[in-house]
Amino acid sequence: ELPPIDGDFYDIYHTLTPEQREIQLKVRAFMEKEVKPLVNHYWLRDEFPFELIPKFQKLDICGVTYEGYGCPGMPFLMEGVIAMEMARVDASIATFFGVQSGLAMGSIYICGSEEQKQKWLPQMQKFEKIGAFGLTEPEVGSGAAGGLTVTCKKTPEGWILNGQKKWIGNATFADLVIIWARDLDSGEVKGFIVEKDNPGYSVEKIKGKMALRIVQNGLITLKDCLVTEQNRLQNANSFKDTGKVLRMTRAGVAWMATGCARGAYESALDYTRKREQFGRPIASFQMIQGHLVEMLSNLTAMQTMVFRLSEMQDEGILKDEHASLAKVFCTLRTRDIVSRAREVMGGNGILLEYDVARFVADAEAIYSYEGTKEINSLIVGRSITGFSAFV
Ligand code: FAD
Repeated sequence: ELPPIDGDFYDIYHTLTPEQREIQLKVRAFMEKEVKPLVNHYWLRDEFPFELIPKFQKLDICGVTYEGYGCPGMPFLMEGVIAMEMARVDASIATFFGVQSGLAMGSIYICGSEEQKQKWLPQMQKFEKIGAFGLTEPEVGSGAAGGLTVTCKKTPEGWILNGQKKWIGNATFADLVIIWARDLDSGEVKGFIVEKDNPGYSVEKIKGKMALRIVQNGLITLKDCLVTEQNRLQNANSFKDTGKVLRMTRAGVAWMATGCARGAYESALDYTRKREQFGRPIASFQMIQGHLVEMLSNLTAMQTMVFRLSEMQDEGILKDEHASLAKVFCTLRTRDIVSRAREVMGGNGILLEYDVARFVADAEAIYSYEGTKEINSLIVGRSITGFSAFV
């Protein structure tokens, strides 16, 4: 009898309460039963499975860490565990969820007025309204902190926004997009809730991606787009406020990378125990075991790291550099784990039906979004040396 397949070698999650454990298992069952059978079909077609939205509504796990507004105010650890369980099956669906629950709702939760939170968060929690987060621009990615070119200007009628945002996840079907823009008068960055029917707002789907193909990324054009003062995030007064949202969501991306790595490791372990060559399971060969152990050791280090990261969030001591270090380490290690998983599966490793091929491609996008390895490394570098290499 072979031992059960489980990427949680150190029983990391043993401290979860029974209620939290139940949510973890609920998400796992949802991903296995409802999502897994669909993802390769949609990934190949570069489309989003809209039939999942009512099922997400029923699952009732959006905005899990926020207090009030229909959200249960659970520890950050829970948000991480949910991201991990989702990405363990599919990183695109985990990203769709992360944009809604983290980036979009998080911007309103952290930077919105009480009235704005009351208006938007309960609807978003129930997926009645879908959100997106627009920071990156066609010519401004890593340098967003000082370089945003999308502008806003106050007029008697409201705010006028101009410019373009690129790569915006969920944008093709989002009801609202958080747009970060530079105020032409004060020079500071402000945030806006731009609704899809705002005059002067349009979206074009970005086609031809080789990663996270289920995520619908858009190129947004704002042409004299008029946004009311009621839709300006009342507590977003500079890029520092945008940074508060990113600190939270980068921790989520580290968890997501961990899930992606765990899914690939578990698939590879399963495959190598069943696949026979030279009359024996390939998992019995020393060089295959070497790969599996290397994968597991990195995966275990990642899980330990993100677990502590969430504890620090819950303790209120998490700083940008802590989230950045985990984002760099976990996405870098994930790239290694998924490529080893592909390797031990031989030719079948590049076939979508064996799942790992999708993880290999998707790991590339997770590696680059929410700050590249270089930018997150420089945030850590600044913290440990006292010298900023990028300002
Ligand atoms: P660039 O900034 O042009 O960087 C190119 C290379 O130069 C990188 O290797 C980078 O690390 C390096 N580099 C840049 N500056 C330095 C420096 N000072 N020192 C050393 N190296 C440097 N954005 C959103 O706002 N919302 C979203 O929903 C969203 N979703 C995304 C989904 C996907 C699938 C992808 C791929 C991207 C998404 N993004 C989103 C954008 C993402 O955050 C950016 O791609 C990322 O920040 C990098 O920016 P860039 O692609 O413009 O690369």
